[in-house]
Amino acid sequence: MIDPWSSAIIDYEKLVNQFGIKPFTELIHDIPNPDLLMKRNIIFGHRDFGKIIKAIREKKEFAVVSGMMPSGKMHIGHKMVVDQLIWYEKQGADIYIPIADMESYSARGIDFETSKELAINEYITNYIALGLDLEKSNVHVYLQSKNKIVSELAYILSKRVNYNEMKAIYGFSGSTNIAHLYVPLIQVADIIHPQLEDCGGPKPTVVPVGPDQDPHIRLTRDIAERFKSYYNFITPSSTYHRFITGLTGDKMSSSKPKTAIFLSDTPEEAEKKVRTAKTGGRESLDIQRQKGGEPEKCVVYELLLYHLIKSDSELEDIYHECKNGILMCGECKNRSANIIKKYFNQLASKRDEAKEIASTILNG
Ligand code: SF4
Repeated sequence: MIDPWSSAIIDYEKLVNQFGIKPFTELIHDIPNPDLLMKRNIIFGHRDFGKIIKAIREKKEFAVVSGMMPSGKMHIGHKMVVDQLIWYEKQGADIYIPIADMESYSARGIDFETSKELAINEYITNYIALGLDLEKSNVHVYLQSKNKIVSELAYILSKRVNYNEMKAIYGFSGSTNIAHLYVPLIQVADIIHPQLEDCGGPKPTVVPVGPDQDPHIRLTRDIAERFKSYYNFITPSSTYHRFITGLTGDKMSSSKPKTAIFLSDTPEEAEKKVRTAKTGGRESLDIQRQKGGEPEKCVVYELLLYHLIKSDSELEDIYHECKNGILMCGECKNRSANIIKKYFNQLASKRDEAKEIASTILNG
């Protein structure tokens, strides 16, 4: 069982083999202008993504839904979701960004006002600073607790889901509070409601998520099927991305500051963190020259791969020079630390500009 509220490291191959997630590589060649995360196999899996490719190719309407749960500071791993939204924005998608304040309340005990402030000052500010245009008419950012269409749909959908099913999917126990038990239905409605007549009717919809969110996706797809004859829903699609490894080698997590580079870190802090990150280097320079480094186990390399180097040939050079013992970790860290410092300098000024816009997104 995958638990969407835990932070266990995920075995990606097992997911593809056991849970019916399909490898993304099988359709990469059909995608016009695939995103860097797709080409680099960071988005490794999907369910039904062919429907989305078809909509993109035929220039038909489609939607992408990606929620944010305001529960802490955003780190560089979260940038991946924003990068995907930017790509979908360029493909002409309707974009829905639910702010999961109901989930924050039920699963983390965060009150609604705090959620809203966190969403504006941290998440929305960063989304804009990272390059997503939230002011476009086809982008919909909303608080779950304020969206009546979503609440009403969740209630209607809940009629055809029972406790045993929720327990089997999420592992809920007799002591789980009812809000926590109900909130997945709100998330299901978040994903399906763009297909209601009020929002333009049935359309292919994709949800880009980490694999820990697959239980929600499976439940959503099942429920969409159950209500198909009534609403004509198209079963939602999903994609799955790998998690970025934390600086210490564990999963990067906002609740474990030692593992994370936060988007609000100063350029100097980010630079310093790269210099202290776990590498795939050997015990000594001599051994590294003989055997080469292990970029597959290197957090610095992962940062370059996911976020910091856009040029495939430049990245390949680093990979091969590392593997062949030509590049040493000291020099590589220096170079990477300089890249991140420059990037965070630009991000800091964009965050300053974004703050003003962010406060208008939810307050109108
Ligand atoms: Fe990582 Fe660079 Fe060292 Fe290779 S040389 S292990 S990529 S830090």
